[in-house]
Amino acid sequence: MSATAETHAFQTEIRKLLDILVHSLYTDREIFLRELISNASDALHRLQFEMLTNHALRDAGAELAIHIYGDPEARTLTIADTGIGMTREELIDHLGTIARSGAEAFMRSLEAGQSAEQIGRFGVGFYSLFMVAAEVHVTSLSYRPEATAWTWISAGEDSYRLEPGEATVRGTTITIHLKEDAAEFAERSRLIDIVHRHSDFVSFPIYVHDTVVNRQAALWRQSPSTVSDEAAHEFYKQLTYDIADPLLRVQVNTDAPVQIRALLFIPATLDRGLLGLRQDFGLRLYSHKVRIQDHNKDLLPNYLRFVEGVVDSDDLDLNVSRERVQASPILSRIKRVLSHRLLDALRDLAKKDEEAYARFWVAFGAFIKEGVVSELGDRERLLPLLRFHTSRSPGHLRSLAAYIGDVALDQKRIYYLIGEDLESVARSPHLDYFRRQNLEVLYLVDPLDGLLPSALGEYEGFALQNVDDAGLDLPAPSAADAEEAPPPDLAPLIARMQAQLGERVAGVQAARLLVDSPARLVTPAGAWGSEMARVRRLFEQDFTAPKKILEINPRHPLIQNLHALLAAGQREEVVSAAIEQLHANALLLEGLHPHPAAMVAQIETLMQAATREG
Ligand code: ADP
Repeated sequence: MSATAETHAFQTEIRKLLDILVHSLYTDREIFLRELISNASDALHRLQFEMLTNHALRDAGAELAIHIYGDPEARTLTIADTGIGMTREELIDHLGTIARSGAEAFMRSLEAGQSAEQIGRFGVGFYSLFMVAAEVHVTSLSYRPEATAWTWISAGEDSYRLEPGEATVRGTTITIHLKEDAAEFAERSRLIDIVHRHSDFVSFPIYVHDTVVNRQAALWRQSPSTVSDEAAHEFYKQLTYDIADPLLRVQVNTDAPVQIRALLFIPATLDRGLLGLRQDFGLRLYSHKVRIQDHNKDLLPNYLRFVEGVVDSDDLDLNVSRERVQASPILSRIKRVLSHRLLDALRDLAKKDEEAYARFWVAFGAFIKEGVVSELGDRERLLPLLRFHTSRSPGHLRSLAAYIGDVALDQKRIYYLIGEDLESVARSPHLDYFRRQNLEVLYLVDPLDGLLPSALGEYEGFALQNVDDAGLDLPAPSAADAEEAPPPDLAPLIARMQAQLGERVAGVQAARLLVDSPARLVTPAGAWGSEMARVRRLFEQDFTAPKKILEINPRHPLIQNLHALLAAGQREEVVSAAIEQLHANALLLEGLHPHPAAMVAQIETLMQAATREG
């Protein structure tokens, strides 16, 4: 390795990012300090973890701390840590060479009008210092005994310089030559103020000049009653980079059956982009005050992956590898306790604050449904959390308990309807009868909702039943319906439709339950239900919809007209096109039409007939 200065080009995305950061004016520039402190704190945590198993460390006695020093005269700011440090190769890899997908995502978020404040979320927080720096020197000495110190120098242009550095102690020292308009960041009082605001919960001492200024409070180790909303929310924001307060927080402080100190949060919304952007969801795990992992995915069941927070347990054995930690039986015990506490807290929220719970449901309801399908052990706790849109009260969410609380005495089922979206299910012909009889129907419209009925099976003795089931089990109809005049005999029309639609349907029959709609498709007894059809269509490219029975409504004028035309032997092309279109409409309403555009020709034939003069 040559010990002379060398110049390296920044990776393309980083170059673009620097160009923006250097040349734009930001109002929230102070967050660069939070980013550097957060990197320093990560480096210290990683060193601490290393110390558990590795005893050949450089400067083992050095205090684990962060030192910040501003010099207004020289207009410089220095941030130094005694963390893990970086070797020459690591300086090259981490600060400029390796492509960082987050750079592009961050630039897109800036273009979309988001503030630069969330840069840390995108994994490129280090570069935020170029909002205030004219030039930067990063000198680092790795904890590895054989490493030597190197200095990385950049003015935020196309390249950076590397040269042998001088360091007396392990860690990283960043010296920033501040831009003229950023002189404030060399002032002691300003620095203290920023640390208080953004980095109070960092668990290593942060010295500004010679005084420790941060609280270093491990909130999750404190008794829950002493943790204020304000402190908890601030902690949440420092942990997640979210700008909004969380929707719910759950603190767990228990010693049996396993020791847990945990502070968990449910964010206010899902659209923070976090879950979409980051693969690294999961909880931060501590043991014996050492941060073991940043994103542990085994502390909660997968369906609760939207939960953020910190878990601390001294029952975890630290003298094992990270992989072994994952397999530990203690971990599964922690997981049980945490998920139960979260689900109980959600149940309480639903009871106490319906409006807040509805917000939770809109953001995370799909995860709860996923839990019902995937985590049988949590079923009893999950069922009370379910909410549905139903035919009863559009826009209003209903629980299963509310549903069965309102049924008539002889109703033995919970009826549901599967569909594409609320708009289309509300128009479904399957609802004709249920509306008329005032029977409530659950709307299942999320992509994976098809899996829910079989996972649910029944609720409190009420079996779930699809309203498109041909052999529907219904309570006795109201008197008015029972007395209606018998419908005309549609046998010739049915035979004709059967002949024309052929293999495409499992049969054609007169409908018993239709009121306002001319036709619908029902599932023959014993066939694959429409719920599975929807799920399979999602996953299988060449999926063909299972055959269904087409029911026609003897009381509907359209059907009666067709019946009459057929009997008179008139306008054959209209009869034929109308039969096609009835079938196509029914498929469309089920969300099962393979090629909706193919309907156009039929519709045109019908329009032509309808617009014919005379
Ligand atoms: P992130 O911290 O999200 O990975 P950054 O752009 O802030 O993204 O930092 C890039 C990488 O540089 C870090 O992941 C880390 O490996 C390294 N790094 C930055 N600052 C330090 C430091 N003070 N000590 C050791 N390594 C650091």
